[in-house]
Amino acid sequence: ILETRKLDKWFGGLHVTDEVDFTLEQGEIHCLIGPNGAGKSTFFKLVLGEHSPSGGAILYDGKDITKAKSFERIRHGISVKFQVPGIFQALKVRQNLQIALQHHLQGASLNEETDRLLEFLKLKDAENQLAGSLSHGQKQWLEIGMAVALKPKLLLLDEPTAGMTPDETHATGEMVQALNAEGVSVLAVEHDMAFVRQIAQKVTVLHFGKVFAQGTINEIVADERVASIYLGEVHA
Ligand code: ATP
Ligand code: MG
Repeated sequence: ILETRKLDKWFGGLHVTDEVDFTLEQGEIHCLIGPNGAGKSTFFKLVLGEHSPSGGAILYDGKDITKAKSFERIRHGISVKFQVPGIFQALKVRQNLQIALQHHLQGASLNEETDRLLEFLKLKDAENQLAGSLSHGQKQWLEIGMAVALKPKLLLLDEPTAGMTPDETHATGEMVQALNAEGVSVLAVEHDMAFVRQIAQKVTVLHFGKVFAQGTINEIVADERVASIYLGEVHA
């Protein structure tokens, strides 16, 4: 569903994305890992159209979207939850979801789908709280919900479990798997290897902007070269 060919991005003299050839198959949960500064978030922003590449191509559903605007990519079914919060803190949880769902629903079906999504996100009891008053983990779930509300075919998650407790992390993994079972393809950047083990069907390791290794989670965990690039990192 997603393919990049020799995708390149320079920031000044810094080669942040270095000829990345990457393929995500339809229906796959694919995790992108790598040390801080490896270029993971930049790769996401290229896929979403928030950065324009210095070279190479991005294909989505077989179409070249390298030059497509960000909103066009969203309309074609790419949706994202970023490290940076994308929720309206001063509005209620329910209102946040309704704003996102309004893109394709109205009236009774809007209310029904809001209820279903609140249930799915484990936020039903918090629906009338202001989003800004949620716990850290709940905010992350609401952000996932905002991305899911756009009915994505491809969901991009940049560190969905950052700052979560192990229980919250596990519940997030179950959410991602449930979405995947409904046909959503997922690309997730993640530092938490327990989470990667839980959900990943395929793993790509980025290092200095290059694809360093690729394989199943078992292959990646067994790869000593991969372990070596994490030496000295807190979350190895
Ligand atoms: P982390 O795990 O810390 O989130 P990351 O793999 O997501 O890291 P990026 O955020 O993609 O890494 O950053 C890769 C490199 O590009 C870093 O050296 C960063 O400082 C640099 N960089 C990112 N965005 C910009 C920008 N807008 N302008 C200049 N340099 C940037
Ligand atoms: Mg990042």
